[in-house]
Amino acid sequence: MWPVNSLDFDIAIVGAGPAGTAACLALEGSGLSIALIDKDGFPRDKICGDALSPDVVSQLNKLPLDTGPLFDQMQEKIWCRAVRFVAPNFKHVDLQLTKNSITGYVSKRWDFDHYMFEQAVKSSNVKAITGQKVNDVSVHASHAEVQLEDGTKIKAAMVLGGDGANSVVKRKLQGEEIDRNHHCAGLRVYYENVHGFSDDNAVELHFYKDLLPGYFWVFPLPGNHANVGLGMHSAHIAKRKPNLKKMLAEIIEQHPNVAPRFKDAKPLETVKGFGLPLGSKKRKISGERYLLLGDAASLINPLSGEGIGNAIRSGRVAAEYLVEAFKANSFTASANRAYDREIYHRMWKELQLNYWLQRVMRNPTLCNFVVERAIASPSVQKMVLSGFDVDNIKSQLRKPSFYWHLLRQNNGHKKSQAL
Ligand SMILES: Cc1cc2nc3c(=O)[nH]c(=O)nc-3n(C[C@H](O)[C@H](O)[C@H](O)COP(=O)(O)OP(=O)(O)OC[C@H]3O[C@@H](n4cnc5c(N)ncnc54)[C@H](O)[C@@H]3O)c2cc1C
Repeated sequence: MWPVNSLDFDIAIVGAGPAGTAACLALEGSGLSIALIDKDGFPRDKICGDALSPDVVSQLNKLPLDTGPLFDQMQEKIWCRAVRFVAPNFKHVDLQLTKNSITGYVSKRWDFDHYMFEQAVKSSNVKAITGQKVNDVSVHASHAEVQLEDGTKIKAAMVLGGDGANSVVKRKLQGEEIDRNHHCAGLRVYYENVHGFSDDNAVELHFYKDLLPGYFWVFPLPGNHANVGLGMHSAHIAKRKPNLKKMLAEIIEQHPNVAPRFKDAKPLETVKGFGLPLGSKKRKISGERYLLLGDAASLINPLSGEGIGNAIRSGRVAAEYLVEAFKANSFTASANRAYDREIYHRMWKELQLNYWLQRVMRNPTLCNFVVERAIASPSVQKMVLSGFDVDNIKSQLRKPSFYWHLLRQNNGHKKSQAL
């Protein structure tokens, strides 16, 4: 069926992570021909916390598939019903993740992304080109062109940049640098035999004083494995130059609230790092013949560091938009601004709220305050949980009483627990 309309493809998607594969899946049945290009073959590792919030699950369930709920079919995952916030004073609150019987999961990206990829390339309108890095992207009057590292040139009416935090589509077409004030760096290391997870398999975020504005995480994984890591704001790293690997090792080996849980644990790899472009600032995410998705569009939750849900959501929004754009045969920068508007219409309030919470959590006193409030107050729990539950916070934000409760709730704290 190639070529189409004298172009090689209607759409070239660079990057077959959650954003790119979601766009592919959401375009199933559209009749549009798609090249799905990735520098890696699948399965492949992606440095991540591997937490799949209920929002990820509900996004997956919105992708059109004849075979029933996509996610239920994936085996290599462990359910997780809570997220634990540990404050600098070691007190913690467990917020329940399950909503409308949808729970969260943790699944290695090796497995999750492979599953998404396999689903995406089932469709006859998708041609997968893997193991080929995209070196260049350019836009011309009649088409966009994607150049692979072996010199192959792919023409398409539209290019989607689903190629993550270091997006070549973004670099070549927008030339934008990393904005350290809205960016985080993360380290990850897989362990086995970490003890002390809760019965709910809570994913744990630890906000210790010496780490702020960073945090430590430990998430349970199938097979007695754990995803362990450290995230820190890039502006702080640039200013203070902390040694993140050393800090991570010190927490695991010496921190009184953490080290005992690692006494029998063994690392399964060396520590690896990657960037998180946070959605705490609005950006230009489209232009002449291109749209940016997921991390390339900087849509990561500034509080929790989660980006998979919004990556999938952006793939779905892009697909809805593209169906109309192809009907109108219109791919101009000004027409494509409709995509930016729709993305921020769906996500901006949540991103803003989580940015605010992120700044609160950077301050040890405020961080203790929020966790203590959350222990005592369902409304504060809902607010903190919003980082993991987009639908819930939308309704909360519309209520002035929500802000009032947050500030006012002071008395009647239930006894807090230490880890
Ligand atoms: C340390 C860390 C922890 C995180 N923890 C979580 C978490 O627990 N939960 C969560 O929801 N989110 C988490 N995130 C964020 C999450 O990883 C991203 O938001 C998510 O992967 C974004 O999906 P994406 O499809 O936009 O990009 P990616 O998943 O990065 O996929 C991009 C794809 O593009 C390909 N690619 C890149 N460059 C090129 C090129 N030049 N040519 C061809 N292909 C290319 C890559 O191989 C990759 O397959 C974490 C991120 C980090 C760094």
